[in-house]
Amino acid sequence: MALDLHDYVASIPDYPEKGVIFRDISPLMGDGAAYKQATNEIVNYARDKGVEMIVGPEARGFIVGCPVAYELGVGFAPARKKGKLPRPTIKATYDLEYGTSSLYLHKDAVKPGQRVLVTDDLLATGGTISATIDLVEELGGIVVGTAFIIELKDMHGRDKIKDYDMLSLMKY
Ligand code: 5GP
Repeated sequence: MALDLHDYVASIPDYPEKGVIFRDISPLMGDGAAYKQATNEIVNYARDKGVEMIVGPEARGFIVGCPVAYELGVGFAPARKKGKLPRPTIKATYDLEYGTSSLYLHKDAVKPGQRVLVTDDLLATGGTISATIDLVEELGGIVVGTAFIIELKDMHGRDKIKDYDMLSLMKY
């Protein structure tokens, strides 16, 4: 029988700052059956879309994307923070609550025309995933879907990526 994945999300009040409820997926990752079920749901979504490559942002995007890539037999490319990738990169900058941040992708990570799934653990404002999408598209990749374990509805990230297909396993 399917697990209720909500049982594997820890909600932490006032973390990392007062007034914020942090949704922690480490119980889900720490349970073999729950992690497998979440992975399989994303695998099924990706299979229907003919995904050829997965790109996920540092760091929890790797945790979601890598097992899906393994299961599909496709590659995974990490979108990383400054100074982490050793070869030539492209860069995308996005807004944070205070200031900006940037993500980088190796220039040869995605081939033109490749069908790409973008993954992260959680969608909030959509800034992180939009920057990841920008990187993929700059290299000529086609973003055929986006997948998240959790979507924070009040943050309206879905509006920011409304031109893209999206899967979220849980909504808060
Ligand atoms: P956004 O860029 O959509 O505003 O924020 C999403 C990014 O911030 C994701 O990479 C995610 O890992 C991280 N993030 C923001 N809030 C939370 C949270 O409550 N729980 C977790 N697990 N990640 C969060």
